[in-house]
Amino acid sequence: MITLIRGGWVLTMSERELPAGDVLVTDGTIEAVGVGLTAPPGAEVIDATGMLVLPGLVDTHRHTWQTPLRHLGAQWSLTDYLRRLLHDIGARFRPEDVYAGTLLGALAALDGGVTTLVDWSHIQDSPRTADASVAALRDAGIRAVFAHCDRLRPHGQPRSGTHLAELRRAREELLPEDPKDGALVTLAMGAHGPDFTDIESTVTDFALARELGIPITTHVAVGRPGPHQRGIAAMDGAGLLGPDLTVVHANGASADDLRRLADHGVSASISPQIELTMPELGASVALRRMLAAGIRPGLSVDSESVASADLFTQMRFALAAHRTDTDNEQEKEPPLPAIEALRLATVDGARTAGLADQVGTLEPGKAADLIMLRADAVGLAPVRAAADAVVLAAHPGMVDTVLVAGRTVKRDGRLLADLDRARELAAATADHVLGAGDPTLVTDR
Ligand SMILES: [Zn+2]
Repeated sequence: MITLIRGGWVLTMSERELPAGDVLVTDGTIEAVGVGLTAPPGAEVIDATGMLVLPGLVDTHRHTWQTPLRHLGAQWSLTDYLRRLLHDIGARFRPEDVYAGTLLGALAALDGGVTTLVDWSHIQDSPRTADASVAALRDAGIRAVFAHCDRLRPHGQPRSGTHLAELRRAREELLPEDPKDGALVTLAMGAHGPDFTDIESTVTDFALARELGIPITTHVAVGRPGPHQRGIAAMDGAGLLGPDLTVVHANGASADDLRRLADHGVSASISPQIELTMPELGASVALRRMLAAGIRPGLSVDSESVASADLFTQMRFALAAHRTDTDNEQEKEPPLPAIEALRLATVDGARTAGLADQVGTLEPGKAADLIMLRADAVGLAPVRAAADAVVLAAHPGMVDTVLVAGRTVKRDGRLLADLDRARELAAATADHVLGAGDPTLVTDR
């Protein structure tokens, strides 16, 4: 199967930007990027005239199962979110509800040009739930890192006791392949980590992930900086930091913590929208401090209960967070160029997700995960600075075409999926977990 994408404004997100370039795709892999490439016999030709051609975006942390609970937490604090959504409503999720949420969330991600998703699934309580998650990711057709994590229980309640056995089963029976083997869905450990459990169980959890050869992602140093933020130092003291680890948020990390992470090659995922809008989550984003420490984070949606489904929003919040960082009140540093936000959402996201060799740039040998945006959209034309246009003004409605591993999942602005089914399943889940009769059950006005 050969596809030639012809005549688009190609932002490779590596060295090159081609205002009228072509991308040649063979069997799901990028074979060439250039100007005036000829279509081999039998090739499908996609006319990209008037389009911006970019690598697919990478979301490095999304609790996709929560999609049926969209926008319920607009006024929630972090405490509200943990108590209501994770402890209370989360306990009512059945495997079919996890399927419904993961399917609709993954489709919404694709609609907005997110071709790779780290599905941070802290709702796992049985093998059937893991099966449901992976089935939904595969049915959506997205590239995904399924981060398996047991459901977070209220403080003081014991964990299930079976999560490590379930993770081992998921590795051996469900997702034995690695990204380098060409698998579209691969496994990671979502670990509660020292801040949500304790350092002893973190040591046990990480040891299993490393035995199984899968990456680890954990929420840590969430909220305001201060002496109470001891998680990163504790992990360092226990010898747990390494390049297979991603820390999520870390907006409360101290300069020493960030140095520890950088020294060990730890990657980071930041969620600028929720970090700037949810009370107790800190009202700050560590982007500027991370960049100063040599850490280039990936971006993430986190939860659609409190954030938009797309990464364009996250890019804009990231830019705002960096430029309004009060540590830079004297404006000692120049403003972060807008294209840097697009780098966070592509090449840096790919590295954070452990997929730097597979996605994140348009280069020969990488998977053909790419998106086309309408440069003639009424809200975008005339385009003169392509990357700046994407960061400042693009939205999912401008995403015309999406390819994952060379397979077209969105074309002419429409997802090629059964959206009615996905919406109906998610609505049924919302009715089940929230109650059909009382839409105000979990919302404070
Ligand atoms: Zn999260």
